[in-house]
Amino acid sequence: MRLLFFAVIASIAFFPVPAFADGITQEQLRAHIDILASDAFEGRKPGTAGENKTVNYIATQWLKAGLSGGAPDSGWYMKVGLVERAPGAQDITFLRQAGRRTRKIDIGDGQIVLRGSQAASQISSAELVHAGYATASVDELRPEVEGKVAFLFLSGQPLVPDFPSYRERKARLIAAGANGVIAVIRGKNRWLRFERRFRLPATNLDREGLHAQVEGMISEAGLARLLRKSGLKPADIVESAGGQNFVVQPIAATVNMSVETGVRTFISHNVIGKIAGQRPDGQALLYMGHWDHLGICGDEGESDRICNGAVDNASGISLLIETARQLADARPDRDIYFLATTAEENGLLGARAFVADPVIALDKLIAVFNADTVALTAEGRKIAVIGMGQSALDPQIDLVAEQEGREIDMSGKPDVYLARQDGFVFTEIGVPAFMITSAFADEERLNAFLDGRYHDVSDEVDGELVLGGATDDANFHVSLGRHFGNIATYPKKPTSGDVQN
Ligand SMILES: [Zn+2]
Repeated sequence: MRLLFFAVIASIAFFPVPAFADGITQEQLRAHIDILASDAFEGRKPGTAGENKTVNYIATQWLKAGLSGGAPDSGWYMKVGLVERAPGAQDITFLRQAGRRTRKIDIGDGQIVLRGSQAASQISSAELVHAGYATASVDELRPEVEGKVAFLFLSGQPLVPDFPSYRERKARLIAAGANGVIAVIRGKNRWLRFERRFRLPATNLDREGLHAQVEGMISEAGLARLLRKSGLKPADIVESAGGQNFVVQPIAATVNMSVETGVRTFISHNVIGKIAGQRPDGQALLYMGHWDHLGICGDEGESDRICNGAVDNASGISLLIETARQLADARPDRDIYFLATTAEENGLLGARAFVADPVIALDKLIAVFNADTVALTAEGRKIAVIGMGQSALDPQIDLVAEQEGREIDMSGKPDVYLARQDGFVFTEIGVPAFMITSAFADEERLNAFLDGRYHDVSDEVDGELVLGGATDDANFHVSLGRHFGNIATYPKKPTSGDVQN
């Protein structure tokens, strides 16, 4: 019934209805998307002229909305050091000892691809180990892998709850001192696909200790040859690697590697704004969304080569600008931060940089709300709450939804996107983070987008851009801010009235 009520109100919102005068409108959202997704912004790729225009625009809009700079020294920009690496020429030789002689092991052509942390990386006579899934602790791994080159299963892991990601397992090997980490890719087609992708330039955070001297991928078939020639049975490793007692399997072979890598370092920026609370209690809210997109991505010779990213994620940034304006006017008790992240498309990098170097202690964050790809559906629809079931905050989200007459999609389907959005960086470390949008509750429109315009030159502003749901989402984000930003509403103080009720 609430939903119906909402739909009726929304359908007459095209007329000037005074009660809606203070709410966020489709026209406001569209104005920002028009600019951010225009060709002049060149697809908002980090490290380009498009970045400068984008981060300038966001900071200017937040300033106009009444925010102050939220970065250190009241600045607006947090520097994020990035490094782009592309595999170049490589010479890799596996060797085994046969009596007194050293013999080459032929693993077949095109079965391994590497990239170095430096432009020229050289590893000589390195010992090899198979680290299985590398789920042991850093201390357990250290004596087994230090100074060696380790193979690591990318996936196909046993179905264990909270099984660490590849990223996390690789980090353990690097922390344990492995000189090289090489992912094992199963399946021939999968290998071809991964290998092709790995040869493209990849962007990562430029931070010490994040990368081994050499990283890369090997096909399952290539590794199987290497293992057999070293007297090991590949199937035995696959079987034992999932077990409790598997730490690392030494391989009776060594490797010489000479790897050239195209390395380009550059500085990108997160934009951070702040609404200073009227009665600050040390706790804060954080709103976030990624400003970056893919830049010039179309094939050479095409007339339109710009991936404008109107939906992904000019729409989310537009929501953040207008939500900030409303909340600045509302003068909440608590501090509210707004974060526009860079390099989400490269693996949530701007969000990771923020968490590594936060402007507020992370345990002071009551909640994080990420806005990404919000412009897909019409007004009055259900909302997806990605991040539900991950923290103790769920009943509070339910409460705001109920107050606002919004129905939450309880199908569980939107949960598959949990790890694919910036908020996950906070979820991983136990900070309650949500991505709340009607776009991800409309399965049909979402799938049509993912199969069509997603990461394509056609994600641009045209007649098909739908902003009803995005406008609902924006107004809902304002309600979330009013609820969590005020001491009277959260945490709700027990009163005598509550007890009597
Ligand atoms: Zn994207």
